[in-house]
Amino acid sequence: MRLSGNLRSVPINSNSPNIVLRWRDALVPSLTPTAELIVGVAVVLGFVHFFVPAIYYEYAKTRWYRKAWTITIDESYQPRISVVIPTYNEREFIEGKLTNISEEDFPRNLLEVIVVDSASTDNTAALAEAWARDNPNLFVRVISESVRKGKLTALLSAFEALGPLSEVAIVTDVDVRFQKGTIRKAAKYFANSSVGIVTASLAYSSDVPAESIYRDYYNVLRVAESRKHSTPIHSGVFQAIRTRALRTVGVPVFPGSDDSAFASYMAFAGYRSIQVEDIAVKEPMRGSQFSTKLRRAQHVILNFLLTKKYARSKNVYRRTEFDTIWTIESWLVLVNPWILMAALLMVALSLLLGSGEVGIIPLVFGSALLLLKPYRAWMSQQLYLIMGLLRNLITAKEVWTK
Ligand code: GDP
Ligand code: MN
Repeated sequence: MRLSGNLRSVPINSNSPNIVLRWRDALVPSLTPTAELIVGVAVVLGFVHFFVPAIYYEYAKTRWYRKAWTITIDESYQPRISVVIPTYNEREFIEGKLTNISEEDFPRNLLEVIVVDSASTDNTAALAEAWARDNPNLFVRVISESVRKGKLTALLSAFEALGPLSEVAIVTDVDVRFQKGTIRKAAKYFANSSVGIVTASLAYSSDVPAESIYRDYYNVLRVAESRKHSTPIHSGVFQAIRTRALRTVGVPVFPGSDDSAFASYMAFAGYRSIQVEDIAVKEPMRGSQFSTKLRRAQHVILNFLLTKKYARSKNVYRRTEFDTIWTIESWLVLVNPWILMAALLMVALSLLLGSGEVGIIPLVFGSALLLLKPYRAWMSQQLYLIMGLLRNLITAKEVWTK
């Protein structure tokens, strides 16, 4: 291509194309090519940050989510169920939780409840035992650990104590209430022997349309991945696990291993690890939102850093379609937040360089979007993932204050 004489007369400066320089010079004379180059890269990075998840979501929704389950679901299937409730200082919730489970429409002779308490100082274990004596129609056992070593350790001792005929262990936090039929609904998925672990969808209290965008993003993606094969992210508020899988492959035991690590590990072992839509559990938010969300982000990050290697080291790893899902989600959790971070830092840098009018455009645009709730939810999640990775360098908590 031949350059016109006019263009050639513009001094060639750094590696910016001349044509850009020309209209820029007319428009905003104070701009330096460095600042605009930095902002340009920042905008590209920002674009990547939002486009990759958006495209993945669209793909998963149209290609996977709308597909029928490839597993048979038998409504009449009734396995033996063990409900596992970990507790630490839960005086306020334990009786209500047991009552809630006793109201389930599931045969009593197929149901056992194991409360595993880690040396609560508020009488939780005694309250559970008293409740069990008053309600002999539900089979409840209380395991009292003498020291508190955290939820994971407590769950491991509960798994050891499952009845010999147990087929499915449902792990559930003490503060969540089941809608009637939850156990029956979970049971049916285990009719298919490939299903290893099932989690509930998240129900949110608010039905503000804006908020449901982010909720749907999360739930639709989890269910879509489940229909394809498995989802690597589960919620411990409700997690049903095939007892035979627990006894053969076990669960990963590393600092920070929890719900999502259980799910991913089972998927690597060749089981389906799924989130279903017909069970929705609402989690009440207690205590500090900040520390809960930071800890959960840390655990999700550790899952993506460690579980695949862990499955390999235990010789349970099998290559399946789950690996693709794992790769994309690893990128979304471990890399994508840092791309956003880099973009923000570059915009800040361009402003610091003092000639950053062009940096103000993405800054104003990005800030204006904060008025939208789903965007705010997204951005705060990115911040938690960034802080979580940094914090993992220091500590991953096994025992947390409440
Ligand atoms: P979060 O929902 O992730 O903030 O965690 P919570 O503090 O609500 O705990 C989830 C469940 O684990 C609740 O039922 C707690 O009582 C229980 N839990 C937390 N820490 C321990 C522990 O050290 N031992 C036992 N047995 N249960 C625990
Ligand atoms: Mn909780």
